[in-house]
Amino acid sequence: MLQESNTFSPVLTRYEDFTPVFGQEVLERHRGKLTEMGGFLDALSKARKPVAPICAAWAITANRLVRADFERLVDEFAARLAAAGKLEGLLLAMHGAQTAEGEDDVEGHVLGRAREIVGPDLPIVVTLDLHANITRAMCERATAIVGYHTYPHVDMFETGQKAGRLLLGTLSGKIRPAMAWRKLPLIVNAENQQTAHGPAHRLMARAEALEAAGKAEAISIFAVQPWMDIQEMGSAVVAVTNGDARAADRHAAALAQKFWDTRREFEATLTPVEEAIRLALATRGGPVVLAESSDSTGSGSPGDSTGVLKHLVKAPLSEPAAIFLVDPEAAGALRQAGVGATVTLPIGGKLDRRNSKPVKVTGRVRLISDGRWTARARGYNTGIETSMGTSVVLEVGQVKVLIAERSAMTVDPELFRSHGIDPVYCKIVVVKSPNGFRAAYEPIAKRIFVVDTPGVSTAKLDSLPWRRIRRPIYPLDPGIRYRA
Ligand SMILES: [Zn+2]
Repeated sequence: MLQESNTFSPVLTRYEDFTPVFGQEVLERHRGKLTEMGGFLDALSKARKPVAPICAAWAITANRLVRADFERLVDEFAARLAAAGKLEGLLLAMHGAQTAEGEDDVEGHVLGRAREIVGPDLPIVVTLDLHANITRAMCERATAIVGYHTYPHVDMFETGQKAGRLLLGTLSGKIRPAMAWRKLPLIVNAENQQTAHGPAHRLMARAEALEAAGKAEAISIFAVQPWMDIQEMGSAVVAVTNGDARAADRHAAALAQKFWDTRREFEATLTPVEEAIRLALATRGGPVVLAESSDSTGSGSPGDSTGVLKHLVKAPLSEPAAIFLVDPEAAGALRQAGVGATVTLPIGGKLDRRNSKPVKVTGRVRLISDGRWTARARGYNTGIETSMGTSVVLEVGQVKVLIAERSAMTVDPELFRSHGIDPVYCKIVVVKSPNGFRAAYEPIAKRIFVVDTPGVSTAKLDSLPWRRIRRPIYPLDPGIRYRA
């Protein structure tokens, strides 16, 4: 049960957004796929362990899961777990920053329900996204926690394998997990969190060195995604060693201190949209990628900002540009109009009305689809079909606007390719992502600009209407001191 929350988002999450499957269908969806669950299955099948698949549910980032749907999903999980028979261990793949109405810590809650069923002693190993918000409940209820080591996230499968091996080692008695953690009064921008270089790379290299030297089973650095206004909020470090609680505590403290000491290096550099478009047009060749991180569909934004779109449709383009936009109303109207029709209508700016307004455009309907496509790039749901409902490519001059009924991740160029737009042949491609897009786009992009527009996943954290977050916390309280 995996979803990241953004409590500033104007869009609540529903049961249907998870497209949950249960029992054997879990294996059909994940076996052989590069997901955490695929990694679990790989590790368990190599050890010839019989598997009791319980539930697989993934939803794109948005605001809290509505209460009734949260209860339904967790009840279904709990009922299946209770009916699974006698278990030796439990593997859970979750995000770590999921919220529901009336519940700030869905993962802690799910772990609590699981403990009620399997008892206090059954080993439970949990994988979490690097942007998890670690809580006391999670650490008390899980036997071991294992996080991704990459951002852009491309190691879901390996994280699943690692968790699977950790569980198997625990069952055989070779490993006695000892876990320690540190919570930091710190949230950081996602835009400068890439693990290939920079401050996050240096932290992660330290974690990997400890694991490679056999000093720890799993070291995880959780730079929480920074758009959740909840009390128990902040980045964390979790260390799991084989039987040595003091060493786990030492590693967690040392890495937490290093994270804190490098916090200023995570600040993001944003480029004004008009300047980014001007620089893109002045660039030889393409594509130039404009990352509209404030409207990132992987960070809880609705994907309907017109902050870049309004400038792009006015730009003197002589080659194609591509942009993704969530607008169910426009998608429906354009489907009615049909392929080949020329239509004038307002698009975008309807879900997040605080941060942008609809833009009136005239364009030609080029393509209409059912919005089904399969992620191919290494990352989210690789090899698994996603459905964004009725989807339409509207050509506004040179700008190809892919308008979808429902939100989708934009980090994989396959989003556009599946709809007849190849980013390689575009002058400008707009992605709605702070950093995840780099895995697939850096190899083809001539230049990349993270642009400055307003939105609920903005890098300007002090501009958000915080009310519940525990203060003081950096960077909202820049003078704060911390010792791990
Ligand atoms: Zn993440």
